[in-house]
Amino acid sequence: MAKPTEIFGSMVFNDAVMRERLPKATYQALRESVYSGSELNVDIANVVAAEMKNWALEKGATHFAHWFQPLTGITAEKHDSFIAPVGDGTVIMEFSGKELIKGESDGSSFPSGGMRATFEARGYTNWDPTSYAFIKDKTLCIPTAFCAYGGEALDEKTPLLRSMEAIGNQAMRIMKIMGRDDVKKITTNVGAEQEYFLIDKTTCEARPDLVYCGRTLLGAKPPKRQEMDDHYFGAIQPRIKLFMEELNEELWKVGILSKTQHNEAAPSQHEMAPIFTETSLALDHNQLTMEILAKVAKRHDLICLLHEKPFIGVNGSGKHTNWSISTDKGENLLKPGKNPENNKVFLIILAAVMQAVDDYQDLLRVSVATAGNDHRLGAHEAPPAIISMFLGDELDHVIESIVTGQELTKLKKKIMELGAMALPGVVKDTTDRNRTSPFAFTGNKFEFRMPGSQQSIGDACFVLNTIVAESFRQFADRLEGSENMEEAVDELIKEVFTKHQRIIFNGDNYTDEWEKEAEARGLCNFRNTVDAAPALIDEKNIDLFKRHGIFSEIESRARYEIKLEEYAKLRNIEALTMIDMTRKNILPAVSSYCNDLANTALAKKELGVNPKTEVQLLTEISDLSAEMLDKINALEAAVETTEGLTLTDQAPIFLKEVLPKMEELRVVSDKLEKLTAEEFWPFPSYGDLLFSTK
Ligand code: ADP
Ligand code: MG
Repeated sequence: MAKPTEIFGSMVFNDAVMRERLPKATYQALRESVYSGSELNVDIANVVAAEMKNWALEKGATHFAHWFQPLTGITAEKHDSFIAPVGDGTVIMEFSGKELIKGESDGSSFPSGGMRATFEARGYTNWDPTSYAFIKDKTLCIPTAFCAYGGEALDEKTPLLRSMEAIGNQAMRIMKIMGRDDVKKITTNVGAEQEYFLIDKTTCEARPDLVYCGRTLLGAKPPKRQEMDDHYFGAIQPRIKLFMEELNEELWKVGILSKTQHNEAAPSQHEMAPIFTETSLALDHNQLTMEILAKVAKRHDLICLLHEKPFIGVNGSGKHTNWSISTDKGENLLKPGKNPENNKVFLIILAAVMQAVDDYQDLLRVSVATAGNDHRLGAHEAPPAIISMFLGDELDHVIESIVTGQELTKLKKKIMELGAMALPGVVKDTTDRNRTSPFAFTGNKFEFRMPGSQQSIGDACFVLNTIVAESFRQFADRLEGSENMEEAVDELIKEVFTKHQRIIFNGDNYTDEWEKEAEARGLCNFRNTVDAAPALIDEKNIDLFKRHGIFSEIESRARYEIKLEEYAKLRNIEALTMIDMTRKNILPAVSSYCNDLANTALAKKELGVNPKTEVQLLTEISDLSAEMLDKINALEAAVETTEGLTLTDQAPIFLKEVLPKMEELRVVSDKLEKLTAEEFWPFPSYGDLLFSTK
């Protein structure tokens, strides 16, 4: 393997490449346009495009593609080759500024949430120069934002870019108020920890539920799961190690700062964490990471499962999204410093986040609501469906002193006694060690732990940016023009800390007591996607998005529809898959086993041997298969009731009628699996799947 320093970014048209290859004036103009968000003129785009093409050709590329992120959760790309005929039967390789800046694609096949009806089906991809172009599979990929004819956002990227601008603008007002005239620009940064499962390809592909739905719909408990905790941070198996090596190489090539890798809690579960970057780039990188994970896995005869809950009974997968806010000089404004009580910039930002999380719990919740994540949130392993914040002892102490007006007594640093003289005492971390909190302050960043593993981080990030931008806006409106600014700031901080106390929770988020207490505190508890979705069309939230230029009302309503449509479509596929697996595979298999048992019983009887075992098993299994058939029919009938309804209207039926029937069918199926001889059972078991790479 070549050196990481040589591989890293070798397939990226990054700043270093641009500085080296572009004429100085072009480079400056491009930088300026990225920095200020102003439009780039065509002449400059032409020069950039030409050089991008030359660079790509040198790297072996033949095609270019506008790479975008429609609301399907995955990325899309339409490839065009660089070839252009010159009239004498030969071609040259061409790529113009126009082709770089704008692309047209048929928008009608992507989710548009009713906007399709109102607007033309055409969709446009617009170059996002804040994100670097890169080469993937001999194709020059140009990161773009995808919108409808009238400019309505049809993707994950557009609202995120808009939110970056919103928080940047509002935060700059706060910087002025705080006397930080040295700050020229504010951005947010994200590091997304990606969890995933790796399953042997052949074993995985023998399960239609994994192939169609990415999660097991059936499967009895294996004798061993994660109770021994022997997988978490365990030594990485050679086969997985090889996979990770190649994964890192591929990620590094496209400039992804893959840093940490380890085994996770469940058997066959792993994690990759990159070093954080600016949020819009982090979004692109995470989408690419998911794609590369899947691709590299296949080369190793593995399947990478990104679903939030591929298996019941073991941990699901999330994507902890670490978020912070920093200046153009890279100063992290969420760094509390030695004396956070005197760090007013930090305190005002902390107050802004606290107010945002409390006022817009519903939006944060809906930003992580998907059918897949519904199985994870609140499952006593992941954060609950209730949003609360954890700040840690030290900050709690600071806030308490501000709220009560009592002087701050220094918290004694707790020394962890390690028991051995040779080991130095370690100062106990006073921030993050509440792993159950959905939104924890972890030293110099917030860790939002609710996003699902296969979800785009776009939703969570644009919501977070926007709600904090709103706090900043309110703060700035109030503070600007104050005569005694210091006093006004102190007063505001105290007021906000006092008012939003209810959002702070330090206890165990997995308990039933917390659910009761949260209710008493008036916190939201939306248990599933269908219940969470209306937040998107709540007047207060529509207004918020309008105010900050994130979404028009039409766009907000479209997102609501898409959320429910996706839910209904997914549940429908799951129900149909389950019906197929049980009717076409399990019932016949069980019937064959019964036949086998019956023949044995008859043979025994003929020989004068008591066929007690066979008869008992046969009776039990026959009764269960009759029950299974009933449950299949009931599930099928429930699915049929959705026919003719709009997808939005189907969603609650899938939640309330179909899903419970799927669960009932699973119970019967899992009982049957336990009773049926292995050679007859048509699918790999949980044990086969979870320990397939051992
Ligand atoms: P843990 O598993 O304990 O949460 P990791 O080191 O695995 O910690 O992951 C932490 C993640 O947070 C990494 O992706 C890291 O780059 C990211 N991170 C660290 N500092 C910041 C920051 N200031 N802003 C955003 N993300 C950060
Ligand atoms: Mg983490």
